[in-house]
Amino acid sequence: MATSKQELGAWGEMLVAKTFACPRCKTFRSLRRLPPNFKCADVICDFCGYLAQVKTVNVENVTKVPNTVLGAAWGPQRMRMKAGIYFPLFLVLRNKTKKAVFYLATEFQKPSMYKKRKPLSQNARRAGWQGFIYDMASLEKGALVKIL
Ligand SMILES: [Zn+2]
Repeated sequence: MATSKQELGAWGEMLVAKTFACPRCKTFRSLRRLPPNFKCADVICDFCGYLAQVKTVNVENVTKVPNTVLGAAWGPQRMRMKAGIYFPLFLVLRNKTKKAVFYLATEFQKPSMYKKRKPLSQNARRAGWQGFIYDMASLEKGALVKIL
């Protein structure tokens, strides 16, 4: 059984895959979802190999990008940034009746937008695990482009 968080993520990935052309090669219906345990990206273009992340969040107002969005594990993200590796991000916002999608190209990403969180407490199921947040408020004006 998928959790509601996994279902929300899968919904956002399917929305992106069926709605948008690949930003690199412009082919429609070429974006495919990657398996859930695939770490660095959520969709791949099966024509040109373009990779992107998809983040889906429930919000009150889909026209307002949240200041912060929960990311994934900090360790791999920190290593990727050290290597200068960034992936484009589709940010999907959803409420009960509406949805919106924003796109953040790699050119606008910088280490300061990735903020590490405190490691989970010893009582947590994944004790010691450390995540990060996307600091959307730190982005330059116009960096996030509304595409839906
Ligand atoms: Zn492509």
